[in-house]
Amino acid sequence: MPTNSRHFLQIPGPTNVPERVLRAIDRATIDHRGPAFQELAGKVLAGLKRVFRTEEPVIVYPSSGTGAWEAALVNTLRPGDRVLAFETGHFASLWRGIAERLGLEVAWVPGDWRRGVDPSIVEERLRADTGRTIKAVMVVHNETSTGVASRIAAIRDAIDRAGHPALYLVDTISSLGSIDYRHDEWGVDVTVGGSQKGLMLPPGLAFNAVSKKALDASRQATLPRVYWDWTPMLEANARGFFPYTPATNLLYGLAEAIAMLEEEGLDAVFARHDRHAAATRAAVTGWGLEVLATDPAEQSSALTAVVMPDGHDADRLRQIILEQFDMSLGQGLGRLSGRVFRIGHLGAFNDLTLMGTLAGVEMGLKLTGVPHERGGARAAMESLTAAATTKAEAAT
Ligand SMILES: *Cc1c(COP(=O)(O)O)cnc(C)c1O
Repeated sequence: MPTNSRHFLQIPGPTNVPERVLRAIDRATIDHRGPAFQELAGKVLAGLKRVFRTEEPVIVYPSSGTGAWEAALVNTLRPGDRVLAFETGHFASLWRGIAERLGLEVAWVPGDWRRGVDPSIVEERLRADTGRTIKAVMVVHNETSTGVASRIAAIRDAIDRAGHPALYLVDTISSLGSIDYRHDEWGVDVTVGGSQKGLMLPPGLAFNAVSKKALDASRQATLPRVYWDWTPMLEANARGFFPYTPATNLLYGLAEAIAMLEEEGLDAVFARHDRHAAATRAAVTGWGLEVLATDPAEQSSALTAVVMPDGHDADRLRQIILEQFDMSLGQGLGRLSGRVFRIGHLGAFNDLTLMGTLAGVEMGLKLTGVPHERGGARAAMESLTAAATTKAEAAT
């Protein structure tokens, strides 16, 4: 149904780009070797450190997140190195595939796509590696295909308990700017990020936050790297420039997005996502449907994957919702194709956007003939108003 009002883009990335960010991007492209650019780069590179919660450099690539995945590996490892990785879902599986195609040997811990990385298995696998052949541990923080968030700090503790020197590489492409994340405090060596999810930007920028240990490893690393090489990037960044043409207009948008996150306050941003996720789960339970993520301690605040009742196709539901209500929901990826749909509740998002989204889902369930209980949207409203009442009481 064509409409001339705003499309509801409720996939878990790319997310809705706020007007402020669109307006910031809509400016003349400048000389990327001139003083105005230098000022922009300085501002953006400093702001990114606050978002990643690091004192170390953050590298910005004009690429999709996949490029930053590759960059994390080629800058730190050698051909044939062993890495430990976990089958949390589709994105973890894709990152594994990149590692293999680069000639790394992946020790793969299978999973059921409903739970995150188990810290006790990390500890066990690293303790068993007495020869210290594992050079890196690869973890996806927020598995966007399943709505499961792994516990990054607990996994750090597990690596430390094993006393293992492996690098810790973490994908935060769909958690950065929506779920609490601390690069330095959690001892992460390379954090991989992307622009189009919690950071509320269009696709096209990707990040590597780099620890001192990762930087040391990069001096010994021998996988071929040119475009992704940290060294010329860090040298140029130190002067406020880039070794090749940067995505200037996306950097304008990034400066604005960081300003928006900081005006709200990062902790308030995370609390907002927690609240919206809780309300979404209340809706799913209210419909009598099942949240894919089984462990409440791992349920994502950025998106919720909903399991379809047997015999019902999630893609048909999504298609009807798109046609009737002009809303895009996330499809089931990989082995979850047709079996789940994903509600993105991250980025530029407020209570009424959530209610519009959930109302669209509830109406779609009815139109598609999916067995469900009425009242999921109502349960979400109760959840949101209960949280609002607490806030209002605190204010008086
Ligand atoms: C979106 C996403 C990616 C892939 O990023 P692209 O920008 O599509 O290359 C990787 N990991 C996670 C967790 C994601 O959500």
